[in-house]
Amino acid sequence: MYYNKFKDIEISALGFGSLRVPKEEGNPKRTDRKKGKELLAAAFDCGINYIDTAYTYGDSEEFLGDVLPDFPRGSYYLATKYYASVRRDIREVFEEQLKRCKTDYFDFYMLHSLDDYYINDYMDEKMDCIGFMLEQKRIGRVKYLGFSSHANPNTLRRFLDYCDEFDMAQIQLNYLDWDVLDAKGQYELLRERDIPVWVMEPLKGGRLANLGDEAQGILKATSPNNSAPSWGFRFLMGLEGVTCALSGMTTPEQIRENSRIFASRNPLSEKEREALETAAKTYMQIMGVPCSACRYCCDTCPAELDIPLLIRGYNQMKLDNALWKVDGLNKAKGPEECLYCETCLSHCPQKIQIPQILAEFDEMLNKRKA
Ligand code: SF4
Ligand code: SF4
Repeated sequence: MYYNKFKDIEISALGFGSLRVPKEEGNPKRTDRKKGKELLAAAFDCGINYIDTAYTYGDSEEFLGDVLPDFPRGSYYLATKYYASVRRDIREVFEEQLKRCKTDYFDFYMLHSLDDYYINDYMDEKMDCIGFMLEQKRIGRVKYLGFSSHANPNTLRRFLDYCDEFDMAQIQLNYLDWDVLDAKGQYELLRERDIPVWVMEPLKGGRLANLGDEAQGILKATSPNNSAPSWGFRFLMGLEGVTCALSGMTTPEQIRENSRIFASRNPLSEKEREALETAAKTYMQIMGVPCSACRYCCDTCPAELDIPLLIRGYNQMKLDNALWKVDGLNKAKGPEECLYCETCLSHCPQKIQIPQILAEFDEMLNKRKA
C-alpha cells in the first residue's frame, strides 16, 4: 500500500467505504458484524488506514462502533458525515454519531452531498453547520473538516467562495464521470483552490469492473494483463492531489486484490489513457444509465420500487438482453408500478431521469413479451 501525505499525516491511497458491507441474511437493515469485522481486519492487514461512513448509511455507524473498539484507535482515521436531508440539528446528530461510533472524536467530518439543493442548508446562518463544526475542530472533537459533493462546478465555486476553511473534499470521480457528470470541472476547481481530493465511486459502484466485451476488448488489446478495476484505480493515480480513493469492498479477497493495485503509485501511460478514453466512449454508447446504486432515491419512492435494481435491469437489457443475470429482478416490483410522481428526482445525485427510464424499461419489457 502506498500512502499520500495530508497535512502532517499519511493516508492510505485506498480507503475503506463502509456503505456496502454485507447485511445479515434475512435482515437487510443490519450489517453482518462477523463478516464486517473480517473485512476491516483484512483492510488493516493490507495497510488501509482510512474508514469512511455517514449518518445516513443505514446502521453503518453502529456497526463501526461495535467492531472498531477491537482495533487500536490511533491505527486508523475515521470519517463520517452530516447530511442536511435528515432535517435535524447538526449538534444533536453529531452527539449521536459519537455515541454510535463509540468514540470521542472523528478524524474527518464532512458536510454530506453538497449540491444545488443542500447548499442552502450548509450556508444557512441559522443552522450554522460550518460554525458548529469549526468549533468542534477547535476543541479537538474533529481533526479535519471537509465536505462531500455532487455539485456542478458553479455550485461548488459558490460554496468555496462562501467558506475557505475546508481541509479536504470528497467527490465522485472516475473515468466515466470525468465527462458524464463533469467530475473534471469539480476536480479542477478543487485543485485551483489547493483542496486535497478524496474520491468516492472510483469504479462507479462496481460498474467499471465489467465494461462489456467491446470496450473491454479495447483495453485488453492495449494492456492484456491489466484487470478492469486496475484501469479505474490507475486513472486516479495520475491525478495530482487525489489523496484517497474509497472503495466499498465486500469480500476480503476483493480488498486484497484492490490493495495489490495500490502497492505503489502506477499511473496510466499516455497510450493507456488514450485507450481508456476510447473504451469509455464505446461503453457509454451502449451502457445507458450511470446509476451508482447509492439508493438515495429508494426511501422516498411511494411505490417502494427497488429503483437501482430496475435500472440495472434496464442497462443489462441494453448491454446483452440477458435479464437473468440481474439477481433478484424477477422477484422485484416491475417498472410498470412507477406512479410517475417524480419524488425520486431531487434525491438522485446522478441526476438520472428515473421515471423516464422506468417508462422506457417497461416498454422494452412489453416489446420482449409481444
Ligand atoms: S417516479 Fe416512480 S420511481 Fe420515482 S418516486 Fe415516483 S413512483 Fe417511485
Ligand atoms: S437512481 Fe440515483 S439515487 Fe437512485 S440508486 Fe441510482 S444513482 Fe442512487
